[in-house]
Amino acid sequence: MAKPLPNRFNPDLMARDGARYEAALPLSSFERLTTLLQDSAGEVHVSAAFARRERHILISGRLTVRYSLQCQRCLAPMTLVVDEPYELVFVPDSASAEALPDELDPVVLDDGGYMATTVLFEDELILHVPLIARHADIADCAPLPDNVAAVVPEDDDAAPRRNPFDALKNLDLH
Ligand SMILES: [Zn+2]
Repeated sequence: MAKPLPNRFNPDLMARDGARYEAALPLSSFERLTTLLQDSAGEVHVSAAFARRERHILISGRLTVRYSLQCQRCLAPMTLVVDEPYELVFVPDSASAEALPDELDPVVLDDGGYMATTVLFEDELILHVPLIARHADIADCAPLPDNVAAVVPEDDDAAPRRNPFDALKNLDLH
């Protein structure tokens, strides 16, 4: 049976007994992540196991979460189910992180050699938020009113800036 993963832990101690861990972390505890979501209600479900590989301690498992997003095609709310594996390597400082082979994803321990679960998982969770959220199937999109075009953020910069004086030109001043 899996043990509860503490909110803050020493990976060196966790790697000693070979146990499996689980946690349900409130989405609201991930501040940077929730700025990308429509709603911070809900939980991230985490499974975790620790292992030693050469000089490193690794943590791996799965992240399961539902993100509330806004579809950028129809602007209606949508839910994205994320169920992804992860594998992260604990390192004592950013210099050690730089020295890791590219295939290993580092997380930097705090000064006491401890790791907080919010720090550990936040970047990984942010990676799974799509840059532009869209319903997977266009049939799931809410119909748009005829006079409203879909707003797609990447087009914003390409669109010519409206000249504020254009509106004045159209005024009938006679
Ligand atoms: Zn949609």
